[in-house]
Amino acid sequence: VPVLELRGLRRVYGSGTTAVTALDGVDLSLQEGEFVAVMGPSGCGKSTLLNLIGGLDAADAGTVRLAGTELGSLDDDRLTELRRREIGFVFQFFNLIPVLTAVENAALPLRLDGRNDADELARHWLDRVGLGGRANARPDQLSGGQQQRVAVARALATDPVLLLADEPTGNLDSKSAAEIAGLLRQISVEWNRTVLMVTHDPVIASHATRLVLMRDGRILDDLALDGTLQAP
Ligand code: ADP
Ligand code: ADP
Repeated sequence: VPVLELRGLRRVYGSGTTAVTALDGVDLSLQEGEFVAVMGPSGCGKSTLLNLIGGLDAADAGTVRLAGTELGSLDDDRLTELRRREIGFVFQFFNLIPVLTAVENAALPLRLDGRNDADELARHWLDRVGLGGRANARPDQLSGGQQQRVAVARALATDPVLLLADEPTGNLDSKSAAEIAGLLRQISVEWNRTVLMVTHDPVIASHATRLVLMRDGRILDDLALDGTLQAP
């Protein structure tokens, strides 16, 4: 079973003469351990795609299956639960809570899940993303790259099958950006999770194992990358 399977995905905003077709029949299948970069010009449908996969918006036609479960078949509560457990989100601006420490931020999804081993598990994930030594620091005491590592630990905390990353390096200098891209590659290729990342940066995309190019709401090209391309 693919981790993620999109079939005939379609989303049209508005109606009549002002209708905008944001997604125009997208088929995509992601297997465990893939690191997929999605690129394409502004307005081509990347955010809409992430919203539909993340269960934040509903398709007008087509299906989204996450680990075999069709999102459209779930009621709101079960959709929220599935999203919380099986999808980790990483954002451009980290979205950390300023008054909480790194470990408290990383533990949040586990607390929402009512787990009493939340801090312990959060520490484990902070260690794995290389930030174990800063577990008690607050976001304003961390660099951008370190803050994004906290966000990645938070995204991994519930052990989701899929990580969705929306421009995860868009707010980082190029060195930190390459480190975060390398971490996402490690998470997929070595730890066998599946990562779907939207990026504008071809150097960042070159860390992925697969490149999906979008245009006008469709997938224009879908290429395997060998991951050895690097910036000169
Ligand atoms: P991208 O993330 O690649 O920039 P989007 O998914 O944001 O693309 O947008 C795809 C198309 O859908 C664009 O033409 C955009 O203007 C339109 N669109 C996105 N969201 C809305 C909305 N809420 N209402 C109307 N049009 C929208
Ligand atoms: P944009 O990329 O157009 O600036 P946003 O900043 O609103 O859009 O969100 C970026 C992406 O992050 C969204 O497309 C969505 O997939 C995801 N996202 C945002 N907020 C949430 C949330 N509360 N839960 C899950 N996913 C979210």
